[in-house]
Amino acid sequence: MIRSVCVFCGSRVGDDPEFRAAARRLGEQFARQGIRLVYGGGSIGLMGVLADAVLKHGGEVHGVIPEFLDRIEVGHSQLTSLEVVDSMHVRKAQMFEMSDAFVVLPGGLGTLDETMEIITWRQLGLHDKPILLVDQKGYWEPLLALIEHTVARGFAGEETRKLFDVVRDVRDILPALGLAAEEATGKAAPAKVL
Ligand code: AMP
Repeated sequence: MIRSVCVFCGSRVGDDPEFRAAARRLGEQFARQGIRLVYGGGSIGLMGVLADAVLKHGGEVHGVIPEFLDRIEVGHSQLTSLEVVDSMHVRKAQMFEMSDAFVVLPGGLGTLDETMEIITWRQLGLHDKPILLVDQKGYWEPLLALIEHTVARGFAGEETRKLFDVVRDVRDILPALGLAAEEATGKAAPAKVL
C-alpha cells in the first residue's frame, strides 16, 4: 500500500513554466489522495512549488534537510514536519526509509544523483519500491538515451529497463502507482523509449 511518496526534483524551477505547473498539479493530487510527500525539505525551486501545493490543498509534507543546506536551500518553515539531519547521506537514507515509491520530476545534478542512487539500489536488490520518471515535455530524454546506451554497449543488462517506469505527464503518476486519479492520459510506459 502506497502512503508516502518521495519526490526528487530541482532546487531551481527550470526554463519552462510547465515544470512549475506540473509540480503544482502533483502536489494537489497528493493532497487530494491523502499521499504524504517526502522530499528534501527546501523552499526553493520545484521543491518549494511542490511542497507549497501539497500544503495549500491540506496535505501532509515531511522534509529531510541537512543542517548546512537548511541555510542554502532555505528549509521550508511551514511543513507538517521538517527533519534536520547531519549529512546528505543521512538525508537520502531517511527519505528512502520513509517512502513507499519514488517520483522524479525535472531537476539538476542533485536530482540526477538521487535518481541514479535509488535506481541502482533497486538494481542491487536492496529494495523493490516503484520508481517513476516524469518525462515532462521530454526533459529526461537525454538521460533515457544515456541509459539505453549503457544497455546497448553491454555495460548494463536488459533488465535495467524494468527498474523504473516512465510517464509523460503528471496525471499519469498516480495511476502508474496503482492509485486512483482523475483523467489519466494513459499507462506508464516501460523505461525503453528509443
Ligand atoms: P538539483 O537537482 O541540483 O537542483 O538538486 C535537487 C536536490 O538534490 C537538492 O535538495 C539538492 O540539495 C540535492 N543534491 C544536490 N547535490 C546532491 C548530491 N551530490 N547528493 C545528493 N543530493 C544532492
